[in-house]
Amino acid sequence: MKNEFFDVVIVGAGLSGVGAGCHLKEKCPEHTFVILEGREKTGGTWDLFRYPGIRSDSDMYTLAYSFKPWDSSELIPSGEKILNYIKEAAKEYNIEDHIRTLHKVVKAEWNDEDALWKVTVENQKIFHCKFLYMCSGYYRYDKGYDPLFEGKDLFKGPLIHAQNWPSSLDLEDKRVVVIGSGATAVTLVPELCKKAKKVTMLQRSPTYITSWPGKDLLANVLRKFFPRKFVSFVMKTKYNFLQQFLYHFSQRNPEKAKALLIKKAKKEVGPHFDVEKHLIPDYKPWAQRLCLAKDGDFFKALKEEKATIVTDHIKSFTQDGILLKSGEKLEADIIVKATGLQLLALGGMEILVNGQKVDFSKRYTYKGAGVSDVPNFLSVFGYVNASWTLRADLISTYLCRLLNALKSKGMKKCTPRLKEREMLQKPFIEGFTPGFFERSLHLFPKQGDKSPWINPQNYKIDKKMFLSDPLEDGTMVFDL
Ligand SMILES: Cc1cc2nc3c(=O)[nH]c(=O)nc-3n(C[C@H](O)[C@H](O)[C@H](O)COP(=O)(O)OP(=O)(O)OC[C@H]3O[C@@H](n4cnc5c(N)ncnc54)[C@H](O)[C@@H]3O)c2cc1C
Repeated sequence: MKNEFFDVVIVGAGLSGVGAGCHLKEKCPEHTFVILEGREKTGGTWDLFRYPGIRSDSDMYTLAYSFKPWDSSELIPSGEKILNYIKEAAKEYNIEDHIRTLHKVVKAEWNDEDALWKVTVENQKIFHCKFLYMCSGYYRYDKGYDPLFEGKDLFKGPLIHAQNWPSSLDLEDKRVVVIGSGATAVTLVPELCKKAKKVTMLQRSPTYITSWPGKDLLANVLRKFFPRKFVSFVMKTKYNFLQQFLYHFSQRNPEKAKALLIKKAKKEVGPHFDVEKHLIPDYKPWAQRLCLAKDGDFFKALKEEKATIVTDHIKSFTQDGILLKSGEKLEADIIVKATGLQLLALGGMEILVNGQKVDFSKRYTYKGAGVSDVPNFLSVFGYVNASWTLRADLISTYLCRLLNALKSKGMKKCTPRLKEREMLQKPFIEGFTPGFFERSLHLFPKQGDKSPWINPQNYKIDKKMFLSDPLEDGTMVFDL
């Protein structure tokens, strides 16, 4: 089988991989690249998830690429619209010809002798490249998190995981129990109410939920007077500021933020709902991602008693529902597990440097994108407290800066070299505690205690680190 060579191999054709291709076309037109995608289709998350109502849970102005304005007043669009937006970007920037679907990468080996990565695909095809750029997301695609429930095989009805939604599920007149309290459950519940007879959200503990308008008409008004790029800039700035402000306000004033969120929820859900029991979490706001109820749809479903919340623990599944630890029984025709994702570092690939397998859990992260002593390598991980794309765009721009610098200096490799062998080890992301995250975070590279061995999850700091700090900063070493 013929080996192929490219300057850059991008792993993954989701939002980040397609965006990376567009950045390369614009900023590194002389570099060749290929995007290797394991699935049959592109779009990643926005193609995989098909549950009813699937939509963004951050505003689309900041979820949109820096180079492609979001030309709609829709603030929280459907998954289908986001997928179309990604496909449109791929078309506009002629990225489609660079994508190879059904190319799951299983191994990447760096060799100092030829200063190249050898990238192996599941079908044994081999690619060589100078730079490896990981846009493989952060979770397992083949299955979601599936906790073991006692007696799960007893249940006679359909038992579905939100990550694998069947296209032909009949909800008409059914009693549905949704297990979970995260963004997926909050999105699903009001949507299921449209067809089902009764929807119950079963949670072990509450999550912060706030209503958010589905549209922002300011964009429409501005578009009448100003060019679309300018409007996009204004809207991006507005929502980026809002996200950062709300996040930092909550970090500094957790009690105030909590009180405000609860007051808002109480107002939305009406006086007869037990907010204390079902809607007040025991963690600080933003220790987990804040869930958005588009135009308050989730609260409306509760207020109109189309949906209910039960806060309890599962004892076991039964033939016709779920028996709870309190002794209560929930009858169900369909059970949906909105139990979350299984985190996966670096697309599950095996990565070797000069014959040595890299154990990422023992390495440090360089700016939250590179990895200590791994040459010509960057990986995209977005924000947990803001839109993913804001960070993906910064890292892709940084990739282009590195590639252009290597070329102009006539150098072959750049490596974040770890000199401090005794640095403090902190988790890849601090202060973010959802279960799915805490279960697997130990597998990710660590942060140190000083820049550039940090992943600050702060747009302002990242912008400086990726766009204006010198490339040769005493840690990133360029060699022949
Ligand atoms: C339900 C859901 C809703 C979300 N909503 C938001 C939101 O509103 N706002 C927000 O900012 N973020 C959100 N996120 C986070 C979301 O994942 C990002 O917005 C974004 O889609 C990530 O894009 P990505 O391209 O980096 O990763 P993904 O979308 O995960 O795409 C990764 C791609 O890499 C491919 N791949 C993985 N491993 C390999 C391999 N070894 N070889 C080849 N290909 C591989 C996968 O098949 C996939 O196509 C959401 C996530 C989920 C699950």
